[in-house]
Amino acid sequence: MINSNNQLVDKINGITITIKREDLIDDYFSGNKLRKLKYNLQKAKDLGLDKIITFGGPFSNHLYATALLSNKLNIPSVGFIRGEELKNNEKYNHTLSICKMNGMDLKFISRSSYKHKESSFEVKSYLKNNNNVLIIPEGGSNELGIKGCKEILNEIDLSFDAICCPIGTGGTITGIIECSKKNQIIIGFPSLMNQSLKKNIRNMTKKSNWIIQNDYIFGGYAKVSEELVDFINNFYKKYKILLDPIYTGKMLFGIFDLIKKNKWNWGKNILIIHTGGQQGIIGMNQKLFSKGKLIINFPENY
Ligand SMILES: *Cc1c(COP(=O)(O)O)cnc(C)c1O
Repeated sequence: MINSNNQLVDKINGITITIKREDLIDDYFSGNKLRKLKYNLQKAKDLGLDKIITFGGPFSNHLYATALLSNKLNIPSVGFIRGEELKNNEKYNHTLSICKMNGMDLKFISRSSYKHKESSFEVKSYLKNNNNVLIIPEGGSNELGIKGCKEILNEIDLSFDAICCPIGTGGTITGIIECSKKNQIIIGFPSLMNQSLKKNIRNMTKKSNWIIQNDYIFGGYAKVSEELVDFINNFYKKYKILLDPIYTGKMLFGIFDLIKKNKWNWGKNILIIHTGGQQGIIGMNQKLFSKGKLIINFPENY
């Protein structure tokens, strides 16, 4: 059983804020991607499969976690990467260098092929010669991934009024909704505009004690503003908790903003899931730096 600690962070306008430190489960294997991979990798081991095959963008937390964990479990992994920009590039970004160092076989495919995933020409021809494999979807949000996310909440967590969670595909929040209590409300903060998100979550859970808060997307996935970077830096200064710019930073910005503007309507005692993802800071900083923009302070001893 994987366990993480709850950290009481602050009380603002009468609202008590606690953060579940899923990002600290382990020095290397942390966050919701670990939760989602747990039962998937166990399946690959149990069935004696030769390889894990999965998908992601060049900064993907999921690819990163898959490479590290499959390496640890001695299962070769293959990552199909969105876009061919880095194909012949000797120098990968931080995420992909770590994937490579952990033995992941990186295959760059065009964005149009990437859209089709398993049914693209490249992946199909790869699978022709490699069929004893486990294919894990982008982000790891299949049934086994959600099963892993059902283990995020423990008994104590069922006493909070509200639980906040960032959203990409919606797999993590589904696991949390599934094991929450009826009188709790689960609030999801998406990091990208996705018209079918609600429908997707409804397809994965029958429960209805959840809402989506769409006001803190900051222009889209992997987009950040100077205000957000500033918030992340101040948050670390004040609470010594490092947020990632893609998911947890946007969510916490949103929660603090709503509380400060007296727009928080979901109870006095809230639990926020820190889903990890800090590896993405390094790549984001490379991008921000090259544009001459404010970067995220990465603590030296992190
Ligand atoms: C992938 C990811 C999410 C989103 O999880 P989904 O299950 O895809 O909704 C949230 N936070 C972090 C840090 C992530 O890496």
